[in-house]
Amino acid sequence: MRIFIPLLLGGYLAAAAAEPQRFEAAEPHMGTLFRIVLYADDPSSAQEAARAALDRIAELDSALSDYKPDSELNRVCGRAWREPVRVSDDLWRVLDASQRLAEESSGAFDVTLGPVTRLWRQARRDRHPPDPWALAEARALTGYRKLTLDPGFQSVSLQQRGMLLDLGGIAKGYAADEALRVLRERGFPRALVAASGDIAIGDAPPGKAGWTIGLEPAPGQGFARVVTLVNAAVSTSGDAEQHLTVSGKRYSHIINPRTGVGLTEPIAVSVIAKRGLEADGLATAVSVLGVRRGMRLVESRGARAIAVVGKRVLESDPPPGK
Ligand code: AMP
Ligand code: MG
Repeated sequence: MRIFIPLLLGGYLAAAAAEPQRFEAAEPHMGTLFRIVLYADDPSSAQEAARAALDRIAELDSALSDYKPDSELNRVCGRAWREPVRVSDDLWRVLDASQRLAEESSGAFDVTLGPVTRLWRQARRDRHPPDPWALAEARALTGYRKLTLDPGFQSVSLQQRGMLLDLGGIAKGYAADEALRVLRERGFPRALVAASGDIAIGDAPPGKAGWTIGLEPAPGQGFARVVTLVNAAVSTSGDAEQHLTVSGKRYSHIINPRTGVGLTEPIAVSVIAKRGLEADGLATAVSVLGVRRGMRLVESRGARAIAVVGKRVLESDPPPGK
């Protein structure tokens, strides 16, 4: 027996001395490509962990999607106007964060915009703005105060039949957080999960102070800032990918709940916060609120924002003590 000990030990030392390698995986979910980067010693356990993280994202897509007719979200909307409906922990967490943000942003962030965002989605496909009557009808079904959450029963009620919830402004950040949590639990804390504009960041890569992220709120204009982050999240909102142009006017996919119309003032915002759930929602909320009120909201949360308005780059005040 003894003869094997030095051999085993030798093998162990060799493995321990080797630098962890970078692994990447990617898969489409929630209408975008989720990318995972992680550092690991061996490819097979890295692959298994990435698979588990992607499965978790798929699970969240089934719960939170407003595109999938049988998602938990859509099933809840079909019943919650009649009676309170108890929801899963995931849906609860996202709705609870959404409603808190709706309150704090005076309704600028509003997940009850579903009937309106659907009309604008169709309008982007048709390249034609929504019919004003249809828009007025849809708007009558919105308003964050018509969505009630009961923490005692973890249940959801909707005030009117036909209300639809749209978590497109917050769900990807939460999914990135959860994927990162799965990787950490499986022993891979040095990881990053990115869903296009929504990135959740874990421990630093080996030998590095953190993950270097170039913030490009308005694509083609170069990096507004380059930041090095650990155990944080960054989300960017803007109309770079989805918008409708009519007679030279550009309507963002982000809707002003006060008018039911896509934003027309060009603004692109990156928010850095502790979690994706927070960064994602805040970036959307700041887009609607505009820089002055938006920055105040971000600062009240101890987060950080960088906004690009035209050619100007504006930054929130650093959190106290930083
Ligand atoms: P994001 O890219 O995170 O800013 O999210 C934009 C998406 O959020 C849109 O495509 C809609 O699905 C949804 N949305 C649009 N306007 C709002 C709003 N005022 N509050 C919350 N979600 C919104
Ligand atoms: Mg968002």
